[in-house]
Amino acid sequence: MLFIETRGNDGQHKISVPFSAAILNPMASFGGLYSPQALPSINNTFLQSHVNSSYPQLAHAVLKAFEVDIEDSVIDQALALYELFDDPTNPVPVVQVKDDLYVSELYHGPTRAFKDMALQPFGVVLSSLAQQRNEQYLILAATSGDTGPAALETFKNRDNVRVVCLYPDGGTSDVQRLQMVTENAANLKVIGIKGSFDDAQNALKQLLTSKSFNHKLEDKNIKLSAANSVNFGRIIFQIIYHIHSYLELVRQQAITLGEKIYLNVPCGNFGNALGGYYAWKMGLPVEKIIVASNSNKVLTDLISTGRYDLTGRELIATTSPAMDILISSNIERILFDLFGTERTHELMQLLKEQQCYQLTDEELKQLQQHFVADFCNDEQGKKQIKQAFDEGYLMDPHTATCFQAHQNCRKKPLKSIIYSTAEWTKFSPVIDNALTGNVDTKDIDSLKSIAETADIKIPAVIQNLFEKDTVQKSVIDKKDIETEILAFLDQ
Ligand SMILES: *Cc1c(COP(=O)(O)O)cnc(C)c1O
Repeated sequence: MLFIETRGNDGQHKISVPFSAAILNPMASFGGLYSPQALPSINNTFLQSHVNSSYPQLAHAVLKAFEVDIEDSVIDQALALYELFDDPTNPVPVVQVKDDLYVSELYHGPTRAFKDMALQPFGVVLSSLAQQRNEQYLILAATSGDTGPAALETFKNRDNVRVVCLYPDGGTSDVQRLQMVTENAANLKVIGIKGSFDDAQNALKQLLTSKSFNHKLEDKNIKLSAANSVNFGRIIFQIIYHIHSYLELVRQQAITLGEKIYLNVPCGNFGNALGGYYAWKMGLPVEKIIVASNSNKVLTDLISTGRYDLTGRELIATTSPAMDILISSNIERILFDLFGTERTHELMQLLKEQQCYQLTDEELKQLQQHFVADFCNDEQGKKQIKQAFDEGYLMDPHTATCFQAHQNCRKKPLKSIIYSTAEWTKFSPVIDNALTGNVDTKDIDSLKSIAETADIKIPAVIQNLFEKDTVQKSVIDKKDIETEILAFLDQ
């Protein structure tokens, strides 16, 4: 199966590329993204035949259906990483929280957030491709908290790939920072930037487009790739857990095969929701995808009014920081799938030049056939956390946005799956505040407070962070980033 470009072809790129090429060089013509030319089908026969499959068996079948050009041995090695999740037989538990409401917990991997679902196997695949081609890759990532730890964890000690991760010093939680600065491997470099996440991201963007930096990399025979969710190599692994979660409801006899359900997703860059959309288009019985946002509600507005509008909008720092995004990259793949290349190119151009685009009534109708959206501010999120806890379920602030959307967007009495994207340990001060009223606590104290209040244990991987040595000590000025990276590459 081949991949084509969302904004059309500029004559410099190939018209279509196989999976491996879309992963290694994710940047398509005109700044577009690679998307599948066609989607494989997962009909009821496929679903029926996988009711009793393990997670890796199901994943293997989905990758095969996409005809990915990756050797079976590499696929198996990548999927075996799911056996290192909390429950080796089921990396993604789906738990019932109310009569018709289920939570699919995507955070049982090594860094306790859902980025592991895709980045864990992605690391194996990218490193294997680089080795087969005898090429060296550099991955540059700017992180506000969850992508960084997951990217470092997956590429740690993997051959032919080096990772440099920039984070805003003082702008992440203690746990997220410790997860990065205690990573000890020769192919990893973590750099704290004096400034905000935007500063880190802008510095990175400048570097990626800098001719002199790119020439220096060429001289060292190093290619650039990307590990953010514009890379289809991540998206493909995000289709699988939607199918798994559906089959889990069948196994629990909550639904019969063929019954439609709601998928309810906390959205930022829209990779998670896009995975659900593809699974639906492939044949998964879905009624609608409920898109939950925080106060940065560009997506809620788009899906409600057809208008994507950045004018006069500033990013709001919320208690669900992984969703603090104004340019949600993967929406582009939805536009492409619904409206085609030309229109997508036009809309993306408008967004760039006028910070705004407006869909036609007909286009909006099509979008609304698939999505319905809601948003949840920090205060409302805290109330959701407290209420769910009082009813027996502990969740993080990202997941909380979905609980609110569930109340507002579900029109039919069908079963719903909420996707939970982070463990309570990653955002403990906010949760502690919601549960006990404690304010301004440090992570370690709020972890203890929640553990006591909820009568649960702090997982060892989190507890141990506070005893580990800091090995990644660079905290530097923006202007020194390039020098710092080049020095690392020369080691
Ligand atoms: C990345 C992330 C999200 C947003 O997911 P997208 O796929 O970018 O929409 C939500 N919650 C958490 C905890 C995350 O780390």
